[in-house]
Amino acid sequence: ATADRIYNFSAGPATMPVPVLQQTAEALIDVNGTGIGIAEHSHRSKTFTAICEGAEAACRELANIPDDYHVFFVQGGASLMFGQVPMNFLTPDKTADYLNTGSWSKKAIKEAKLFGNVNVACSSEDRNFCYIPKDVSYSDSPTYVHFTSNNTIFGTQFAVEPECPDGAYLVTDASSDIFSRPIDVTKYGLIYAGAQKNLGPAGVTLIIARKDVVDSGSGDLTTMLQYRTQAEAGSLSNTPPTLGIYMMKLVFEWIKGQGGLAAVAERNEAQATKLYAALEASSLFSGTADVDSRSKMNACFVTGDADKDAEFVAFCKQRGMDGLKGHRSVGGMRASIYNAFPDEGIDALIEAMKDFEAEKG
Ligand code: PLP
Repeated sequence: ATADRIYNFSAGPATMPVPVLQQTAEALIDVNGTGIGIAEHSHRSKTFTAICEGAEAACRELANIPDDYHVFFVQGGASLMFGQVPMNFLTPDKTADYLNTGSWSKKAIKEAKLFGNVNVACSSEDRNFCYIPKDVSYSDSPTYVHFTSNNTIFGTQFAVEPECPDGAYLVTDASSDIFSRPIDVTKYGLIYAGAQKNLGPAGVTLIIARKDVVDSGSGDLTTMLQYRTQAEAGSLSNTPPTLGIYMMKLVFEWIKGQGGLAAVAERNEAQATKLYAALEASSLFSGTADVDSRSKMNACFVTGDADKDAEFVAFCKQRGMDGLKGHRSVGGMRASIYNAFPDEGIDALIEAMKDFEAEKG
């Protein structure tokens, strides 16, 4: 059933582990021998509540998440979180610091300005977001510091989390690199990530949040926009995205089976290193991000000629590689190589680069 699959370099929704897809295909008809499919079970059923608790437990185990953190699942995607975070934690008399490293950061900044003061503590917009700034200038006493750990569109990534001023807490949009490497959750007040790159299908968003941070959120918001609602209800305040949570649980288990976060990080590192080395060796293609800021999840590269870029994308498509067209704000190509991306796909892309260069370079 998997014979016709091709290499999917899509930035998201992205390729998923094949065993997860296979198990889900079976579970759609009958999950855990209940005679009912996973998408057909009541979210109040014993079957589903066990799955939801299992997803939370697997997540906690993977990332070593302490008990003073909530782990829960919401809807609305990272885009809703851009607004929901400041809506909960920012007021007109408070300031939040934002690190501006790309389009998603900018969107988060725009939303935060609706609720309080925003200090843009650094920006890499001067060079079309091709780097992670080293100099960060914080305001006096920010409530929180928000950053985008991996900039999906521009192919840059924080190598380590930024420093956080005393009294503040870190908030990160980890949508495109969550669980691609070990993460020290205790450094964060809140982590959010849409599932559709490293964790599962679109429609479910993972939140990991310190309990006191959740408690500090506004109580004046509509119920579903208060983080405490789903945090305290174990994601079951209303009907959650049951299928997405089921698949996320399988993905967590798959990561564990791969050896955990350190093991997937090693594989991601090896894949990215190989691909960037091929780009460096090429006289036709070049990477767009500064070397010290390069993402291990999204490699952006160009030939310098838009027509040739388009030709290369078509060339790859003929060889069974899809999703390589770069985002319009960078152009060229983008190879998204999340956790589930197979090693052979990297080799296929490098071979295509060499063959294309020999033919048309
Ligand atoms: N943040 C990052 C880093 C992303 O890569 C994306 C989507 O690609 C988003 C936010 C937006 O996510 P969503 O479509 O789930 O709102």
